[in-house]
Amino acid sequence: MQVAVVLFTRDLRVHDNPALAAAVEEAETVLPLFVLDDGIGRTRYGAAENRRAFLLEALADLDLSLRSLGGALDVRRGEVVTETVRAMREVGAVTVFANTDVSPYAIARERRLGAEVDLRLLDGNFVVPAGEVTPMGNDYYQVFSPYHRAWSQVPPGLPVATPAVIRLPPGVEPGPVPVSRVVAPVRGGESTGIERAGSWLRTHLDGYGSGGHDALAADTTSRLSPYLHFGCVSPRSLAVRAQEQGGDAFVRQLCWRDFYAQILFARPGTQVDDMRPRGDRWLDDPEGLAAWKEGMTGYPLVDAGMRQLRQEGWMHNRARMVTASFLVKDLGIDWREGARHFFDLLLDGDVAQNIGNWQWVAGTGVDTRPNRIYNPTAQLRKLDPEGGYVRRYVPELADVPARAIAEPGLLAPSYPGPIVDHSLAVEAFRRRRGLG
Ligand SMILES: Cc1cc2nc3c(=O)[nH]c(=O)nc-3n(C[C@H](O)[C@H](O)[C@H](O)COP(=O)(O)OP(=O)(O)OC[C@H]3O[C@@H](n4cnc5c(N)ncnc54)[C@H](O)[C@@H]3O)c2cc1C
Repeated sequence: MQVAVVLFTRDLRVHDNPALAAAVEEAETVLPLFVLDDGIGRTRYGAAENRRAFLLEALADLDLSLRSLGGALDVRRGEVVTETVRAMREVGAVTVFANTDVSPYAIARERRLGAEVDLRLLDGNFVVPAGEVTPMGNDYYQVFSPYHRAWSQVPPGLPVATPAVIRLPPGVEPGPVPVSRVVAPVRGGESTGIERAGSWLRTHLDGYGSGGHDALAADTTSRLSPYLHFGCVSPRSLAVRAQEQGGDAFVRQLCWRDFYAQILFARPGTQVDDMRPRGDRWLDDPEGLAAWKEGMTGYPLVDAGMRQLRQEGWMHNRARMVTASFLVKDLGIDWREGARHFFDLLLDGDVAQNIGNWQWVAGTGVDTRPNRIYNPTAQLRKLDPEGGYVRRYVPELADVPARAIAEPGLLAPSYPGPIVDHSLAVEAFRRRRGLG
């Protein structure tokens, strides 16, 4: 093949990138292309500003890496299929290589592109591609444990090599990548992602399974989720490296990522619809929703989590679970409201992961205990016993002793009292679910 286009989407790396490697292998010259897709901002789960900043940083980094190999990144703006076809015509390519994805938006994009040009899809976004392991009689797993067992049996395959050299089609000279007006809370891109993965595996993998995963104040999870979402770090390479170092607990989390991806792939409707409807009648409570979003519920752990989200574009997984449970089960507000807010602010905002986790917490998804309710005060005592996490994000409580923070009530003059009584809220939720 003389010339090919490789269309980057959320696989913004040169290492272990099957689409890039295949294009370079098969074609004499390759145009690396990224289309800033105007359509994404208009979807229900549109592009958050800080996620866009992270993306632009990742594109600049990818461009640098491609240039160091002899290529460059051609960044265009517009409708992705139209722009890809246009770029292909300009360079005389008939084939485009891309890594396949699972969201309904991405699948529709692949279908439209495949109808217009020769599209070669490869697997680079997950450790085990969605649909590769399925249970008897179904096209996806609904329960995590059997999925994890089957997933663990699949050999991850060898990461593909970074191309030694990339030759651009003659006469092609891509200009500079657009610069973000906003600075992302953490630096986007493959270089930073690889560095972060390396240092985290060296320093924190060991303690991850024995408490590191839960300790809110210590903040020792990998924080690789935005890099995984944009593909700055290859999930497969990461899993292989962690496995080699005995990091089973961490690899299991990467399996959760694949698990939710295979659900959305098989059941695209779940990005909006309850996977398992529970007959919920959600409450219309704009004040409660606003207090939750602002981190002003009077429950310190919930408020710390919600403020961390706003400040950093990221929230610790345990805090995500408690804040989400509080919205849905204490306030009785539709999980879709929460998912939308998370999506507006999360750097790692990802349809499959966000929706899958929200439905899990709401009990409309794959949790085998759908009516579990996290007690935000008990969780605070367990996950943040010294109050370090709360104090970091709720300055009003900076001088309140840990013991007092973990008791419901009026904690400081500038901090609100609890907006609901947890035990009454639990009773109300159980009644609404018909549990007596
Ligand atoms: C309500 C709610 C919404 C969420 N929304 C998102 C989202 O939009 N995007 C997203 O990437 N994650 C989401 N998560 C999952 C999880 O909270 C984050 O992936 C994790 O906190 C990221 O931090 P980390 O990279 O330090 O994770 P680590 O603990 O270091 O884990 C490593 C990687 O494993 C994966 N992982 C870990 N926990 C989960 C999980 N519960 N589900 C799926 N994958 C997981 C992530 O890719 C993560 O980067 C959500 C969780 C909840 C409860």
